[in-house]
Amino acid sequence: MIPFEYRTPKNLKEVHATLKEFGADAKLMAGGTALVIMMKQRLVRPSCLVSLGSVRGLNGIELKDGGLKIGGLATHRAVESSSLVRRRLPMLAETYHHVATLRIRNMATVGGGLAHADPNQDPPPSLIALGASVKATSPNGSRVIPLDEFFKGYYETVLEPDEIITEVFVPKAAANTGAAYIKFLPRTADDYATVSAAAVLTLDKAKKTIADVRIALGSVGETPVRATAAEALLRGQPLKGDGFAEAGEKAKEAVDPVSDFRGSAAYKKDMAAVFVRRALEKALADLRQQAKAKAAPKPAKKKAVKKVVKKGKRR
Ligand SMILES: Cc1cc2nc3c(=O)[nH]c(=O)nc-3n(C[C@H](O)[C@H](O)[C@H](O)COP(=O)(O)OP(=O)(O)OC[C@H]3O[C@@H](n4cnc5c(N)ncnc54)[C@H](O)[C@@H]3O)c2cc1C
Repeated sequence: MIPFEYRTPKNLKEVHATLKEFGADAKLMAGGTALVIMMKQRLVRPSCLVSLGSVRGLNGIELKDGGLKIGGLATHRAVESSSLVRRRLPMLAETYHHVATLRIRNMATVGGGLAHADPNQDPPPSLIALGASVKATSPNGSRVIPLDEFFKGYYETVLEPDEIITEVFVPKAAANTGAAYIKFLPRTADDYATVSAAAVLTLDKAKKTIADVRIALGSVGETPVRATAAEALLRGQPLKGDGFAEAGEKAKEAVDPVSDFRGSAAYKKDMAAVFVRRALEKALADLRQQAKAKAAPKPAKKKAVKKVVKKGKRR
């Protein structure tokens, strides 16, 4: 490895001061799972590593305006195992569960993953489909960036060098919404996806018409891809037998995968159509399951049994 300075600022002010001191040669480090590999491969040669590990208050997961506010330093494992996320947005917990291995998920952070911007990653398609945004903080203040405008190219985002992802916000889902993320993994369970797809589907009150839908794919281009034309094909339309398959075919037109050891470009294109259809079907099944659970009679509360200990009768 090439020698570098290592700094451990305790708060954002110190992080910004260190970034200013070292300029463009400094690199933020959160979990280090992506960055350290890139340094070993000499793809990145920072003069200073600015560890975010000692910065407090950026790893919480809480409710905000009915949605979820996730700190930029929350680990993948924290999202996966959070009871709040599992209750409110099981699809998001499931998405983070799909990332690599437990060892990686224990270290990798939500902000670090998004800033890394590998188009094969799992969380971006789900977060885009859920309408999430990131909050980026610099010495000049903060700005909110919708995630579908965040990725620019391979390992490239719209973040400025002095901006830090401090928060990811996932808005509250509308009533009658189902969500799903699916990942095609023909090799090992901890691999990156060959193709992945996320769908968030909202039906009208009568549950007959598609009020809204968001679809995003991973591993099919330089960035995660939002399939807006496929969404437009479905939005406002009644649920019909072949609608999801037609949307899958439309989504196929939006992707531009490369051939690699996970499959040829042509194969991935075909799989994109299939996976969009399946993700939509799974989102609909999720929605129906939620409605069923809501309609089911609630189990009667058990009466609290008072423990009466009569004097003189204890053995
Ligand atoms: C063996 C292996 C298997 C993997 N498999 C998968 C997989 O199946 N699916 C998947 O989705 N991912 C997978 N990954 C990728 C993994 O998700 C990323 O390595 C991880 O998300 C990066 O997070 P981190 O906190 O470790 O980031 P770091 O490595 O610390 O940083 C990554 C980049 O983000 C920048 N950065 C870090 N934090 C911030 C911040 N808060 N604000 C701005 N910039 C920041 C850093 O400067 C660096 O450029 C795998 C990784 C490995 C090593």
